[in-house]
Amino acid sequence: MCCAPLALFLLLFVLDFVLFRPLRAPAKRSKSLGNARFSAAKLPTEVDAVVIGSGQGGLSCASVLSQFGEKVVVLEQHEVTGGGAHCFAVDGKSKWRFDAGHHITIPWHEQVLHLACGTAHTPVPFIKTAATTDDGYSDRIALGEAPMGETPLPIRDDVQLVAELTKRFPQHAANIKNYMSLADAVQMRFGILTGAAIFPMAIRQRLLASWFMKPWRDWASRTTTDALRTIFPGDDEATNRLRSYMIGLWLDAGSPPARCSFFMQTAVMGGWQKLGVSYPTGGPQQTALAMVEVIEQRGGAVFVRAPVASILTDSGSGAACGVRLESGDVIRAKHVVSAAGYRATEKMLVDAPPPSTPLQTEQSAGFVMANIALKGTASELGISAANLWIQPANKANNYDALVGEVSYFAKPLDVELSLVPVGITFPSVKEDGGAAGGVLEHTCQMLCLGEYGWFGKHTPVDEPGLAKNGARHAPPHVARKEQATYDERKKRWAERLEQILTDVYPKTKGKIVFTDISTPLTLETYLRAERGAGVGLDATPARFVSPDELSELDMRHPRVPNLWRCGQDYLMYGQILSAASGIVCALRMLGPLAALRYVCRSVRLLLLCGGPPAPSASKKAD
Ligand SMILES: Cc1cc2nc3c(=O)[nH]c(=O)nc-3n(C[C@H](O)[C@H](O)[C@H](O)COP(=O)(O)OP(=O)(O)OC[C@H]3O[C@@H](n4cnc5c(N)ncnc54)[C@H](O)[C@@H]3O)c2cc1C
Repeated sequence: MCCAPLALFLLLFVLDFVLFRPLRAPAKRSKSLGNARFSAAKLPTEVDAVVIGSGQGGLSCASVLSQFGEKVVVLEQHEVTGGGAHCFAVDGKSKWRFDAGHHITIPWHEQVLHLACGTAHTPVPFIKTAATTDDGYSDRIALGEAPMGETPLPIRDDVQLVAELTKRFPQHAANIKNYMSLADAVQMRFGILTGAAIFPMAIRQRLLASWFMKPWRDWASRTTTDALRTIFPGDDEATNRLRSYMIGLWLDAGSPPARCSFFMQTAVMGGWQKLGVSYPTGGPQQTALAMVEVIEQRGGAVFVRAPVASILTDSGSGAACGVRLESGDVIRAKHVVSAAGYRATEKMLVDAPPPSTPLQTEQSAGFVMANIALKGTASELGISAANLWIQPANKANNYDALVGEVSYFAKPLDVELSLVPVGITFPSVKEDGGAAGGVLEHTCQMLCLGEYGWFGKHTPVDEPGLAKNGARHAPPHVARKEQATYDERKKRWAERLEQILTDVYPKTKGKIVFTDISTPLTLETYLRAERGAGVGLDATPARFVSPDELSELDMRHPRVPNLWRCGQDYLMYGQILSAASGIVCALRMLGPLAALRYVCRSVRLLLLCGGPPAPSASKKAD
C-alpha cells in the first residue's frame, strides 16, 4: 500500500532531476542588478505572468514561476527592488545603511530563500544572532523603569527563556509551562493552516472548522491582552511585571496587545525562541538581489520605477489579462500576480466587482522609526548584535505594560519616556556576524508603533506626481502639507528617542552623527503601504478565524479569474512568511503536478545542494 506514494515520489524525483538544473551564481554580480528601469523594448516577447511589487512575496513567486519555465516580469514602483527588504541610505548617499523593514527573522528563512531561488548553493547565509554576541543572547526585554536591581530579561532560546522566567517568577511556574504548551499548540496549528494554503480554499475552510483546529479557534480568536490576563491571572506587581515581559517582542506583531491576536504573540514570545533569531549576511537587500538575479538568469525581467496604475480585465470573461503602468504602457500576460497588498490590489481593479461584504480587517499600525548614524567601534559604543525591547511599564502604572501601551497610544509625545515602547537594533553589527570589530561607522534603528492618524494630514503636496513617478530616496524629498509642523513633530520624536538611546546605551552619548525619523507616511511613500501600515493587514483575531475573512484573503482572487495575490496579507506578515506565500502562490498557479515536483526538488536542494554559497553571491554588489 505504502509503496505507491513512494514510487510516485521517486518517479517525480527522477523526472525533476532530469528536467531541472539548479542555477549557479555568476562569477561577478552586475552593479545594476535590481536597478533596471522599465523600458517596453526590454520586455520578453511573450509574458506568462506579470507580478506587481518586488518585496519578498512578489520576488519569491516570480522566482518559482521562472523555475518552471514561465516568462515573468516584475514591476516595482520604487527606484530599488526589495520592498520591505531593501536597505537605504539617508538622502540616498551617506555611508550609513539602514533596513527598511527587516530587522530580525528566523534561521529557516535561509532555506526558504534557497528554495525560492532554486540555486546550487544557499544564496545568502543567515547568521544566528545569539551565535555572534559575547554572552550568547539575541534579545533582551526591559521595562521602561524596572524595580531596583531588576535587569532586562535575556533571551537565547526557549529552554533558557522558560528557566529565566521561572527563576524570576517562581509563583507562576505552572502558568509559564502552560503558556509554553499553549504557544506550541497554536504555532503548530498555524504551520498546518499555512501548509494547507497550497490547497483550494474549500479545503482550508474544512480544516479550520475541524475538531483538530479547536485550540486555534479558541486562542487565535482572543487578543493578546485578554489571553495573557487569563493565563497569568492577578493584579499584583509581580504578575504585572511577568505579563509585561510576556508581551515580548510585540512591536514585531505590528499591532498593540489590545488589538493583536494571541496567536501572533505566541509567535514572538515562544515560537521564535524555539527556532532562534537570525539576520542575512550583508543585510536584507541581499535576499532580494539573489531572487532578482535568478529571475533574470531564467529569462525574466525585474523593473524599478514602474508603478502600476491598474489591472486590466477582459471585458467578456472578466479575467485579468495584464496591467497598465502609470506611464501608459500596457503589458499583456496570461496571469497577473499582485504582491502589493490586499487593499492596493482592490484599488487597481477598476473594472471588477467589489466584495459583497467588505473585508473587516483594517490596516495595521505603522512605525515611527529613528535611523541613527553612530561614530565609533561597536565596543566604543557599547553596542552588540542583540536587540533590546523596552516595554511601557513603570512604577506609576505598577509595572503593567498592558496599561502603559494604552497611555502611549493616547499621547505618544507626552507620556514619560519610560512609557515609550521601543525596539532597538544595530543592523551594521549584525550585518557581518559580529566581524565588524574595527568598523567605525555604525547604525542604530529604534522602532515604535505609530498610527497613521498622528501624521495623516501631512500628505504629499503633489500626490498624483508621486503616484505617477514612483518613490526615490535621493533628494528632493517629498514636499508635505504643513511641512513645518511635520518637521517639528519629527524633531520631537528624534530628541525623545535619542534620549532613550543614550540612557540605555550611555556610551553612544556624543557619538550620534545624525538621526533621521521616518513615519507611517514614509512607509506610504516608499512601500506604497496603504495608510502607512507597517505590516499590511492588522493581526486582529478575526483575520485568522473568520471563514469570510479567510475566503476574501485567498491567494486566488475570489472574483477575478487569472488574478493571484501573495505577500504579507495572505498567510501572515514578516519576511519569511511573505516569501513563503509567494512560493505557495506560484505552486497553486502551476498546478498539482508542478507542486509535487517542487516538493521533490526541495528535498533534493536541501539535502544535496546546501552549504556555503559561491563567494560572489554573498558579496554586496560592487
Ligand atoms: C519598519 C518595519 C520593520 C519591520 N521589521 C521586520 C522584521 O524585523 N522582521 C520581519 O520578518 N518583518 C519585518 N517587517 C515586516 C516585513 O517588512 C513585511 O511583512 C514584508 O516586507 C512584506 O513583504 P511583501 O512582499 O508582502 O510586501 P512589501 O515588501 O511591502 O513589497 C510590496 C512592494 O510592492 C510595491 N508596490 C506597491 N504598489 C505598487 C504599484 N502600484 N506598482 C508597482 N509596485 C508597487 C512596493 O513599492 C513594495 O516594494 C517590518 C516592516 C516594517 C515597515
